[in-house]
Amino acid sequence: MSKFGLLMDHLNEAGIACSGNRFRPGRCRQEWLHAVHSPDYIERFRNNGLTSRELKRVNLPWSEGLVRRTLTSPAGTVLAAQLALHYGVACHQAGGTHHAQYDVAAGFCIINDLAVTSHVLLERNRLERILIFDCDVHQGDGTARLLADEPRAITCSIHCGRNFPFTKALSDVDVALPDGLEDDDYLNEVSNCLHAQLDRWQPDLVLYAAGVDIYAGDPLGRLGVSLEGIRQREALVLETLKQRGTPVATVIAGGYDDDRQALARRHAMVTEEAARLYAS
Ligand SMILES: [Zn+2]
Repeated sequence: MSKFGLLMDHLNEAGIACSGNRFRPGRCRQEWLHAVHSPDYIERFRNNGLTSRELKRVNLPWSEGLVRRTLTSPAGTVLAAQLALHYGVACHQAGGTHHAQYDVAAGFCIINDLAVTSHVLLERNRLERILIFDCDVHQGDGTARLLADEPRAITCSIHCGRNFPFTKALSDVDVALPDGLEDDDYLNEVSNCLHAQLDRWQPDLVLYAAGVDIYAGDPLGRLGVSLEGIRQREALVLETLKQRGTPVATVIAGGYDDDRQALARRHAMVTEEAARLYAS
Protein backbone atom coordinates (compact mmCIF):
# COMPACT_ATOMS: atom_id res chain seq x y z
CA MET A 1 0.00 0.00 0.00
CA SER A 2 2.92 2.36 0.60
CA LYS A 3 3.52 2.71 -3.14
CA PHE A 4 0.60 5.12 -3.48
CA GLY A 5 2.04 7.69 -1.08
CA LEU A 6 5.55 7.28 -2.46
CA LEU A 7 4.24 7.78 -5.99
CA MET A 8 2.54 11.06 -5.07
CA ASP A 9 5.67 12.21 -3.18
CA HIS A 10 7.76 11.47 -6.26
CA LEU A 11 5.48 13.50 -8.55
CA ASN A 12 5.38 16.40 -6.08
CA GLU A 13 9.16 16.45 -5.70
CA ALA A 14 9.66 16.26 -9.47
CA GLY A 15 7.44 19.34 -9.83
CA ILE A 16 5.01 17.43 -12.05
CA ALA A 17 2.19 17.56 -9.51
CA CYS A 18 1.51 20.96 -8.00
CA SER A 19 -1.36 22.84 -6.43
CA GLY A 20 -2.56 23.99 -9.85
CA ASN A 21 -3.01 20.53 -11.33
CA ARG A 22 -3.74 18.35 -8.32
CA PHE A 23 -7.32 17.30 -7.63
CA ARG A 24 -8.80 15.21 -4.84
CA PRO A 25 -11.97 13.18 -5.22
CA GLY A 26 -14.37 12.76 -2.36
CA ARG A 27 -15.78 9.41 -1.43
CA CYS A 28 -17.40 7.58 -4.28
CA ARG A 29 -21.16 8.07 -4.44
CA GLN A 30 -23.06 5.05 -3.32
CA GLU A 31 -25.31 4.99 -6.37
CA TRP A 32 -22.24 4.86 -8.63
CA LEU A 33 -21.00 1.77 -6.81
CA HIS A 34 -24.45 0.18 -6.76
CA ALA A 35 -24.78 0.58 -10.50
CA VAL A 36 -22.00 -1.98 -10.90
CA HIS A 37 -21.65 -3.97 -7.67
CA SER A 38 -23.95 -5.83 -5.31
CA PRO A 39 -25.07 -3.44 -2.50
CA ASP A 40 -24.91 -6.34 -0.04
CA TYR A 41 -21.31 -7.11 -1.02
CA ILE A 42 -20.26 -3.47 -0.59
CA GLU A 43 -21.97 -3.20 2.80
CA ARG A 44 -20.37 -6.39 4.02
CA PHE A 45 -16.96 -5.16 2.91
CA ARG A 46 -17.51 -1.77 4.56
CA ASN A 47 -18.46 -3.41 7.87
CA ASN A 48 -15.78 -6.10 7.88
CA GLY A 49 -18.39 -8.71 7.05
CA LEU A 50 -16.64 -10.48 4.19
CA THR A 51 -16.05 -14.17 4.83
CA SER A 52 -12.48 -15.36 5.35
CA ARG A 53 -12.72 -17.05 1.96
CA GLU A 54 -13.68 -13.75 0.33
CA LEU A 55 -10.87 -11.90 2.12
CA LYS A 56 -8.43 -14.52 0.97
CA ARG A 57 -9.35 -13.66 -2.60
CA VAL A 58 -8.72 -9.96 -1.89
CA ASN A 59 -5.29 -10.91 -0.56
CA LEU A 60 -5.19 -7.83 1.70
CA PRO A 61 -6.06 -7.60 5.41
CA TRP A 62 -9.28 -5.71 6.16
CA SER A 63 -8.81 -2.32 7.84
CA GLU A 64 -10.62 1.02 8.08
CA GLY A 65 -7.86 2.41 5.88
CA LEU A 66 -8.50 -0.20 3.22
CA VAL A 67 -12.21 0.66 3.26
CA ARG A 68 -11.45 4.37 2.95
CA ARG A 69 -9.12 4.00 0.01
CA THR A 70 -11.28 1.35 -1.70
CA LEU A 71 -14.36 3.60 -1.54
CA THR A 72 -12.43 6.70 -2.62
CA SER A 73 -10.36 5.32 -5.47
CA PRO A 74 -13.25 4.76 -7.94
CA ALA A 75 -14.24 8.41 -7.50
CA GLY A 76 -10.67 9.30 -8.47
CA THR A 77 -11.02 7.40 -11.72
CA VAL A 78 -14.37 9.10 -12.41
CA LEU A 79 -12.80 12.49 -11.67
CA ALA A 80 -9.80 11.71 -13.89
CA ALA A 81 -12.15 10.77 -16.73
CA GLN A 82 -14.11 14.02 -16.33
CA LEU A 83 -10.90 16.05 -16.19
CA ALA A 84 -9.62 14.24 -19.27
CA LEU A 85 -12.72 15.33 -21.20
CA HIS A 86 -11.90 18.90 -20.21
CA TYR A 87 -8.10 18.96 -20.50
CA GLY A 88 -7.34 16.07 -22.86
CA VAL A 89 -5.47 14.06 -20.26
CA ALA A 90 -5.65 13.32 -16.54
CA CYS A 91 -3.73 10.80 -14.48
CA HIS A 92 -5.17 9.07 -11.45
CA GLN A 93 -2.42 7.97 -9.05
CA ALA A 94 -4.37 4.83 -8.14
CA GLY A 95 -7.13 2.76 -9.78
CA GLY A 96 -7.16 -0.05 -12.29
CA THR A 97 -8.71 -2.63 -9.95
CA HIS A 98 -9.81 -4.68 -12.90
CA HIS A 99 -10.33 -8.13 -11.34
CA ALA A 100 -13.30 -7.09 -9.17
CA GLN A 101 -16.65 -8.48 -10.29
CA TYR A 102 -20.29 -7.88 -9.28
CA ASP A 103 -19.99 -9.45 -5.83
CA VAL A 104 -16.58 -11.06 -5.98
CA ALA A 105 -13.20 -9.61 -5.06
CA ALA A 106 -9.96 -10.96 -6.50
CA GLY A 107 -6.28 -10.15 -6.72
CA PHE A 108 -6.21 -6.95 -4.56
CA CYS A 109 -9.34 -5.67 -6.34
CA ILE A 110 -12.60 -5.06 -4.45
CA ILE A 111 -14.39 -2.38 -6.49
CA ASN A 112 -13.97 -2.19 -10.26
CA ASP A 113 -13.23 1.50 -10.87
CA LEU A 114 -13.05 1.04 -14.64
CA ALA A 115 -16.57 -0.37 -14.84
CA VAL A 116 -17.89 2.22 -12.36
CA THR A 117 -16.32 5.05 -14.34
CA SER A 118 -17.60 3.75 -17.66
CA HIS A 119 -21.09 3.57 -16.26
CA VAL A 120 -20.97 7.08 -14.78
CA LEU A 121 -19.46 8.70 -17.88
CA LEU A 122 -21.84 6.99 -20.30
CA GLU A 123 -24.83 8.15 -18.27
CA ARG A 124 -23.82 11.55 -16.88
CA ASN A 125 -21.59 12.80 -19.68
CA ARG A 126 -23.64 11.09 -22.37
CA LEU A 127 -20.61 9.67 -24.12
CA GLU A 128 -21.30 7.36 -27.02
CA ARG A 129 -18.31 5.09 -26.62
CA ILE A 130 -15.51 4.47 -24.15
CA LEU A 131 -12.48 2.29 -24.82
CA ILE A 132 -10.87 0.61 -21.81
CA PHE A 133 -7.31 -0.03 -22.93
CA ASP A 134 -5.90 -2.35 -20.28
CA CYS A 135 -2.17 -3.01 -20.49
CA ASP A 136 -1.76 -4.53 -17.04
CA VAL A 137 0.04 -7.89 -17.41
CA HIS A 138 -3.03 -9.66 -16.00
CA GLN A 139 -6.26 -9.91 -17.96
CA GLY A 140 -8.98 -7.40 -17.04
CA ASP A 141 -11.42 -10.22 -16.40
CA GLY A 142 -13.67 -8.37 -13.95
CA THR A 143 -14.07 -5.42 -16.28
CA ALA A 144 -14.84 -7.74 -19.20
CA ARG A 145 -17.55 -9.51 -17.21
CA LEU A 146 -19.11 -6.37 -15.73
CA LEU A 147 -19.31 -4.62 -19.09
CA ALA A 148 -20.16 -7.64 -21.24
CA ASP A 149 -23.69 -6.32 -21.84
CA GLU A 150 -22.68 -2.69 -22.31
CA PRO A 151 -21.93 -2.22 -26.02
CA ARG A 152 -20.84 1.39 -25.48
CA ALA A 153 -17.90 0.33 -23.30
CA ILE A 154 -15.27 -1.56 -25.26
CA THR A 155 -12.99 -3.73 -23.15
CA CYS A 156 -9.54 -4.41 -24.56
CA SER A 157 -6.93 -6.36 -22.59
CA ILE A 158 -3.31 -6.98 -23.61
CA HIS A 159 -1.94 -9.46 -21.09
CA CYS A 160 0.32 -12.42 -20.53
CA GLY A 161 -1.73 -15.44 -21.62
CA ARG A 162 -0.32 -17.86 -19.03
CA ASN A 163 -0.64 -15.49 -16.08
CA PHE A 164 -3.46 -14.94 -13.54
CA PRO A 165 -6.46 -15.11 -13.93
CA PHE A 166 -6.13 -18.67 -15.17
CA THR A 167 -9.76 -18.79 -16.28
CA LYS A 168 -10.00 -15.90 -18.68
CA ALA A 169 -13.11 -13.86 -19.34
CA LEU A 170 -14.10 -12.71 -22.82
CA SER A 171 -13.21 -9.06 -23.40
CA ASP A 172 -14.29 -7.34 -26.59
CA VAL A 173 -10.64 -7.63 -27.60
CA ASP A 174 -8.09 -9.91 -25.94
CA VAL A 175 -4.42 -10.06 -26.86
CA ALA A 176 -2.69 -12.94 -25.03
CA LEU A 177 1.08 -12.52 -25.06
CA PRO A 178 3.65 -15.29 -24.59
CA ASP A 179 5.90 -15.46 -21.52
CA GLY A 180 9.11 -13.48 -21.65
CA LEU A 181 8.08 -11.11 -24.47
CA GLU A 182 10.61 -8.26 -24.75
CA ASP A 183 10.41 -4.57 -25.63
CA ASP A 184 10.22 -4.47 -29.43
CA ASP A 185 7.67 -7.24 -29.82
CA TYR A 186 5.65 -5.99 -26.87
CA LEU A 187 5.54 -2.41 -28.13
CA ASN A 188 4.50 -3.61 -31.59
CA GLU A 189 1.58 -5.51 -30.09
CA VAL A 190 0.46 -2.50 -28.06
CA SER A 191 0.78 -0.10 -30.98
CA ASN A 192 -1.01 -2.33 -33.48
CA CYS A 193 -3.82 -3.07 -31.07
CA LEU A 194 -4.32 0.55 -30.03
CA HIS A 195 -4.45 1.85 -33.62
CA ALA A 196 -6.83 -0.93 -34.65
CA GLN A 197 -9.23 -0.25 -31.76
CA LEU A 198 -9.20 3.51 -32.27
CA ASP A 199 -9.92 3.06 -35.98
CA ARG A 200 -12.66 0.58 -35.28
CA TRP A 201 -14.48 2.20 -32.38
CA GLN A 202 -13.68 5.92 -32.55
CA PRO A 203 -14.08 6.28 -28.76
CA ASP A 204 -14.93 9.60 -27.09
CA LEU A 205 -12.66 8.69 -24.18
CA VAL A 206 -9.98 6.12 -23.39
CA LEU A 207 -9.40 4.72 -19.91
CA TYR A 208 -5.81 3.53 -19.97
CA ALA A 209 -4.73 1.00 -17.33
CA ALA A 210 -0.96 1.45 -17.31
CA GLY A 211 0.04 -1.54 -15.19
CA VAL A 212 3.79 -1.77 -14.75
CA ASP A 213 3.73 -5.47 -13.90
CA ILE A 214 4.85 -6.03 -17.50
CA TYR A 215 8.33 -5.25 -16.15
CA ALA A 216 10.85 -8.08 -16.50
CA GLY A 217 11.67 -7.81 -12.78
CA ASP A 218 8.08 -7.87 -11.53
CA PRO A 219 7.49 -10.91 -9.28
CA LEU A 220 3.92 -11.34 -10.60
CA GLY A 221 4.77 -10.54 -14.21
CA ARG A 222 6.19 -13.15 -16.61
CA LEU A 223 6.92 -10.71 -19.44
CA GLY A 224 10.39 -9.35 -20.23
CA VAL A 225 9.79 -5.61 -20.74
CA SER A 226 12.58 -3.26 -19.60
CA LEU A 227 12.20 0.04 -17.73
CA GLU A 228 12.86 1.87 -20.98
CA GLY A 229 10.22 -0.31 -22.63
CA ILE A 230 7.64 0.78 -20.06
CA ARG A 231 8.46 4.42 -20.70
CA GLN A 232 8.20 3.86 -24.46
CA ARG A 233 4.80 2.24 -24.02
CA GLU A 234 3.48 5.22 -22.05
CA ALA A 235 4.84 7.61 -24.68
CA LEU A 236 3.42 5.68 -27.60
CA VAL A 237 -0.05 5.28 -26.07
CA LEU A 238 -0.33 8.92 -25.00
CA GLU A 239 1.24 10.32 -28.17
CA THR A 240 -1.17 8.32 -30.33
CA LEU A 241 -4.18 9.55 -28.36
CA LYS A 242 -2.96 13.13 -28.33
CA GLN A 243 -2.45 13.10 -32.09
CA ARG A 244 -5.96 11.78 -32.60
CA GLY A 245 -7.45 14.24 -30.15
CA THR A 246 -8.92 11.44 -28.03
CA PRO A 247 -9.11 12.30 -24.31
CA VAL A 248 -7.39 9.82 -22.02
CA ALA A 249 -7.59 9.14 -18.29
CA THR A 250 -4.82 6.94 -16.92
CA VAL A 251 -4.89 4.66 -13.88
CA ILE A 252 -1.83 2.97 -12.44
CA ALA A 253 -3.14 -0.63 -12.12
CA GLY A 254 -0.70 -3.36 -11.06
CA GLY A 255 2.96 -3.33 -10.17
CA TYR A 256 4.84 -5.22 -7.48
CA ASP A 257 8.27 -4.91 -5.88
CA ASP A 258 9.77 -5.13 -2.41
CA ASP A 259 11.63 -1.95 -3.33
CA ARG A 260 8.67 0.43 -3.02
CA GLN A 261 10.63 3.48 -4.19
CA ALA A 262 11.66 1.75 -7.41
CA LEU A 263 8.06 0.65 -7.90
CA ALA A 264 6.74 4.19 -7.36
CA ARG A 265 9.18 5.46 -10.00
CA ARG A 266 7.88 2.88 -12.48
CA HIS A 267 4.27 3.89 -11.80
CA ALA A 268 5.24 7.55 -12.22
CA MET A 269 6.33 7.04 -15.82
CA VAL A 270 2.84 7.35 -17.29
CA THR A 271 2.30 10.69 -15.56
CA GLU A 272 5.79 11.88 -16.45
CA GLU A 273 5.16 11.11 -20.11
CA ALA A 274 1.75 12.80 -19.94
CA ALA A 275 3.35 15.92 -18.45
CA ARG A 276 6.03 15.93 -21.15
CA LEU A 277 3.62 15.41 -24.05
CA TYR A 278 0.72 17.57 -22.98
CA ALA A 279 2.52 20.44 -21.27
CA SER A 280 2.79 22.42 -24.50
ZN1 LIG B 1 -1.69 -6.93 -12.80
